[in-house]
Amino acid sequence: MPLYCEVCSRTFDGPDGKRCPWCRRRRTRHVEPDDLCFLTEREYIWSGMLADVLTQENIPFMQKNVYGAGLALKMGPTHERIRFYVFYKQLAEAESIVESLFSASDGVNASAPNGDNAQ
Ligand SMILES: [Zn+2]
Repeated sequence: MPLYCEVCSRTFDGPDGKRCPWCRRRRTRHVEPDDLCFLTEREYIWSGMLADVLTQENIPFMQKNVYGAGLALKMGPTHERIRFYVFYKQLAEAESIVESLFSASDGVNASAPNGDNAQ
């Protein structure tokens, strides 16, 4: 069973008590099927397409703007980045959808920034 980070909602493999490889916090525990997990981060122009496909596949998801509303207004919505979260029980299914949709582009969540990505 992978671990789950309560701070940034990402899942990763590792022994109990391991620090989150993304945010370096120790607020990690074993993941539960109903935990909302980070799926991917996409530019605004792609987020609508991904949302449509997830809806078609009956995968509930949550979207979160990466930047605050003030910055989005200044830069315009096209520069906004959207984070997608899904329940852990549907994470694998959602990940394969993301992979088939975006296989040509370089995903920002392809690997952990510190390089010791164990997934
Ligand atoms: Zn984290």
